[in-house]
Amino acid sequence: MDIEKLVDIILESNNIVFFGGAGVSTESGIPDFRSSTGLYNQKNDTGYSPEYMLSHEFLEEDKVGFTKYYKENLVVPDAKPNITHICLAKLEEMGKLSAVITQNIDSLHHMAGSKNVLEIHGNLRDYYCQDCKKTYTSDQVLYTVEPNYCECGGYIRPNVTLYGEPLPQDTVYKAIDAIRKADVLIIGGTSLAVYPAAAYIDFYNGDKCILINRDPVSRSVAADYIYQGKLSDVFTKVMDRIG
Ligand code: NAD
Repeated sequence: MDIEKLVDIILESNNIVFFGGAGVSTESGIPDFRSSTGLYNQKNDTGYSPEYMLSHEFLEEDKVGFTKYYKENLVVPDAKPNITHICLAKLEEMGKLSAVITQNIDSLHHMAGSKNVLEIHGNLRDYYCQDCKKTYTSDQVLYTVEPNYCECGGYIRPNVTLYGEPLPQDTVYKAIDAIRKADVLIIGGTSLAVYPAAAYIDFYNGDKCILINRDPVSRSVAADYIYQGKLSDVFTKVMDRIG
C-alpha cells in the first residue's frame, strides 16, 4: 500500500483510533515478544516459556523468579518515545485522534503527551500490595531486582495484566466504545496473537481499517489497507505533513 495514500486517509479523519502493541516501542529500544529479535526468541536458561514467566501462576509459584524476569526484561528505564508515539500525541492535540488503545505497559504514550491512553494490559508505573492493596510507585519498587514486600508483609506487584488474569473491565469498555465510534482505525505493531485484546478490533464498523506491521499478521483480513513495514515509515510522513 502506498504510504502517501495512507497518510491522506489518516489526515482526512477527525476520529482516528490507534490500537497498538509491542511493535510501537521497538523503535524506542524495547524488544517485542514475537519478532525474530523479540523476547520469545532470546536465549533463556530457566526452562520456562516467557508466557509462563509472565503468568499469574508463576507469580504465585516463584516470586523471586517472576520479579527478576519482569524487572530484567520488561523494564527499560532509558526508553524514550519515538516518532510514532510523538505523532499520535500530536494528532490527539489537533483533535484528529480520540484514543490510543495500547497493549503495552511501558508508558511511552503518556511520556509522549497522549491524554486518552487506554492501557488494556495495565502499566509498569503503578504497583500495589497483593494483600492490603496499598499502592506504590515505580521508584519504590524498581531499585532492586529482588521482590518488594509491603509493611503488611504482602508482595508488591506491578499493575499489569498477567497471562491468566482478567483485563481491567472499565478500560476495556472504553476501548471497545472508542473502536465502535472510530472513523479510521489504525492497528500497528501487534501480531494480534494475544486474546481477548485482539478480538476488540472486530467492533470496528467503518471501512478504513489500516494495518501497519513489520511481519505479516494472520488476522490481516480485518484490514482495508495494509502497509507491511515500520510504523516510523508512515508516521514520519504524517509528521512531515502536519508540521
Ligand atoms: P508481539 O511481539 O506479539 O508482536 C509485535 C509485532 O510488532 C510483530 O508482528 C512485529 O512484526 C511488529 N513490529 C515490531 N517492530 C515494528 C515496527 N517498528 N513497526 C511495525 N511493526 C513492528 O506483540 P503484541 O502483539 O503487542 O503482543 C505481545 C504482548 O506483550 C502484549 O500484550 C504487550 O502487553 C506485551 N509487551 C509489551 C511490551 C511493551 O510494553 N513495550 C513489550 C513486549 C511485550
